[in-house]
Amino acid sequence: MQYYSLNHISPKLSFKEATIKGQAPDKGLYFPESIPVLSKDFLANIKEFSKEEIAFKVIQPYVGDEIPETELRRIVAETVNFDFPLVKINDQISSLELFHGPTLAFKDVGARFMSRCLGHFVKNNDKQVTVLVATSGDTGGAVANGFYGVEGVNVVILYPSGKVSSVQELQLTTLGKNISALEVDGTFDDCQQMVKQAFADMELNKELFLTSANSINVARWLPQQFYYFFAYQQWADKNHPPVFCVPSGNFGNICAGLLAHRSGLPAVHFIAACNANNVVTNYLSDGHYEPKKAVATLSNAMDVGSPSNFVRVLELFNKEFISMKNVLSSYSITDAETKNTIADVYTKMNYLLDPHGAVGYLALEKYLETHSDQKGMILETAHPIKFYDVVEPIIKEKVPIPDSIKSILEEKKQSVKMDANFEDLKSYLKQ
Ligand SMILES: *Cc1c(COP(=O)(O)O)cnc(C)c1O
Repeated sequence: MQYYSLNHISPKLSFKEATIKGQAPDKGLYFPESIPVLSKDFLANIKEFSKEEIAFKVIQPYVGDEIPETELRRIVAETVNFDFPLVKINDQISSLELFHGPTLAFKDVGARFMSRCLGHFVKNNDKQVTVLVATSGDTGGAVANGFYGVEGVNVVILYPSGKVSSVQELQLTTLGKNISALEVDGTFDDCQQMVKQAFADMELNKELFLTSANSINVARWLPQQFYYFFAYQQWADKNHPPVFCVPSGNFGNICAGLLAHRSGLPAVHFIAACNANNVVTNYLSDGHYEPKKAVATLSNAMDVGSPSNFVRVLELFNKEFISMKNVLSSYSITDAETKNTIADVYTKMNYLLDPHGAVGYLALEKYLETHSDQKGMILETAHPIKFYDVVEPIIKEKVPIPDSIKSILEEKKQSVKMDANFEDLKSYLKQ
């Protein structure tokens, strides 16, 4: 499979090269030259396949022969080695829980797959690879965990001091080994700016093999299709395919679902659930696309004013507005509605949503008001414990701590404090 840049200037690349590069030199996102179609037989008999087999079938055409089959099977198995349960909330709405991975958010899937692919590709390099990543919270933990112990790869994570939740901070700072955390005295934008400067710095790039683990990387984007198929496998009424409702920020997750749909995943409709950052909601209502500055909300992983993956959604639909609207709707949900939804669903249905899942739940409920013959699921993208500071005052109870993170809470944070200054980052990287 070859990948072309959506800006159409840079040359086409292989999966390996696209994974190592991340973004095309012309600043475009990479997109697969063709979209594989899964056999009817496979979809009709999906119940009989294991998670590993489903994931392998879905990703293999995208990777081709660039990773040997046995190695790709191992990578895929390690990527999906936790549960993806579809849990019923009420008669019409279920929750696809994507938070059973090591850092309790769906980003684990993309990060685990990408880190292992990159590890494979750089195995025989004489130079160590340095993955540089700025995080506002969830990405850092998933990337750190995904790359932990991967040989030949060092990871340096920049995060804004005091601006990530305490669980998120521990997930970034307690691993050690090949993972280092830089605690920057500044904002997420400062961190991102420092990373961008590092990639543009000739001297640094001569000395080090720098790469990013950004969410636009094809090796993070494509494996997100896996759990849409796991969801369909668990969907009881195969004669009435589900509505998929996806809490969206950068639109990578929902775009993976739309791609899976193009490959044959049965679905009646997709919904992009947004918070007050409503660029796409507005676009789908009046055809006018106007990126804005992000505003802060309770569902902070979706605070994106210019969603980077939306160009991929446009490409999937050949920029045809009407065909996009037939498949995709969007709702924008306020913080007040988010809080009410968390309280309501918890007291009436005994299901605890995190703020992102709550945005999804209400968006799906709004859609179903006018499509009462349909049923659907939300993708619950994070565990509520990651946002206990939001959730606990609403339900007036403590959120039980999952066993998988109990040990981390006792560990000691290890970070290097740094001013929001590129020269400081540069000398740190050069030492
Ligand atoms: C990253 C994230 C999102 C947004 O996903 P996109 O692929 O950027 O649309 C939603 N919820 C949570 C919890 C996240 O961490």
